[in-house]
Amino acid sequence: MSEKWKSKRLGTLSVRAGQEPCPITGAIATPIYQTSNFQFVDVEDGAKKCESIDNGYCYTRLGNPTLSVLEAKMAALEGGEEALAFTTGVAAISALLFSVLKQGDHAIVTDTCYSATHYLFDTILPKFGVEVTFVDASEVRKVEQALRPNTRIIYFETPANPTVKLVDMKAIARIAKEHDLMSIVDSTFASPILQRPLEHGVDVVVHSATKYIGGHGDVMGGILVGNSKLMHTIRDDTYKNMGGVIMPIDAYFLLRGLKTLEVRMKKHCANAMAVAKYLENHSKVDRVYYPGLPSHPQHELAKRQMDDFGGMVCFELKGGLEAGVTFMNSLKFCRLAVSLGDVDTLIQHPASMTHWYVAKEERERSGITDGLVRMSVGIEDVEDIIADLEQALGKVE
Ligand SMILES: *Cc1c(COP(=O)(O)O)cnc(C)c1O
Repeated sequence: MSEKWKSKRLGTLSVRAGQEPCPITGAIATPIYQTSNFQFVDVEDGAKKCESIDNGYCYTRLGNPTLSVLEAKMAALEGGEEALAFTTGVAAISALLFSVLKQGDHAIVTDTCYSATHYLFDTILPKFGVEVTFVDASEVRKVEQALRPNTRIIYFETPANPTVKLVDMKAIARIAKEHDLMSIVDSTFASPILQRPLEHGVDVVVHSATKYIGGHGDVMGGILVGNSKLMHTIRDDTYKNMGGVIMPIDAYFLLRGLKTLEVRMKKHCANAMAVAKYLENHSKVDRVYYPGLPSHPQHELAKRQMDDFGGMVCFELKGGLEAGVTFMNSLKFCRLAVSLGDVDTLIQHPASMTHWYVAKEERERSGITDGLVRMSVGIEDVEDIIADLEQALGKVE
């Protein structure tokens, strides 16, 4: 992050960080450098640029000016030294893991995590000789118990997908520091507006930019933020040689979304709080999971490490699976869809949609019961969202 942005607040960073008018034309919006190649002045110039992006651009898979602007803005928002932008969240996560882990290493991973992340750790990495232990990282003691001499990383999400369980970032970062490990957090559910994990001592922040960062459900992307040394290593290693780099036009869409990130997050949070309170008082609802409710078991931790509580609300109906299906099939306004963080309200059923392939027993251990409904509360007028919930709950026996 450049010095210029260090003292600025998040609303200003969302709009301005990394973006200067074009020195030639004065264009304020960042141009989409839709080019695969960059012409060199001479052989010596080409040699330098091929060697390092610090000397200029050479080929878009190694870097591109539109991507650099996105990377600079994300680094500023997270308060990190540098960022890297990938074509999806999963591309960012896999590039990171394939760069920092090697055969014989051990990884400690939270058991409540995004389904593709779970698959990477559970199925793909073990094929390359990486040992993995899944633990409930919300219990710090369990993370400590899982440590081995060959442990290299602790990987977790907070708030976690889909049950909005939290992990104490400071506590995990402390364990990592004590044992010379790398701590990595997927902060997708919070966005940099609600929490900045690097401030808590975490080493690397991961985002699926497809969610709140893009915000409009029209683009996919992934982001890593961390120290310059690590980001340089990954750029020269898996970013460049595994090819998951984001395309310039997608980087542009993310930059456009980021301009309003701070204002969108405020409305997501306010709407989600209203929806959570409404559901908690409804006779057909058994439980509501929202970090902003005093009934959330980690409400105090949420207040400590987050600036607000986010747009994700989960709940269980008293009638279990059957009630959940009737309820969801009765919705007329909320959109039945996976993904999250869009301006539109999206609602899904983890046990049959995003987490179908996780064994029922394992699902239930991480809180994904058959009756659990996950809602990504959008920024429409909250009265319209609640009216739809009200009529759909009315259809449930
Ligand atoms: C969606 C998501 C991912 C994966 O991101 P893609 O952009 O879909 O590849 C990773 N982590 C979390 C928490 C997510 O919600």
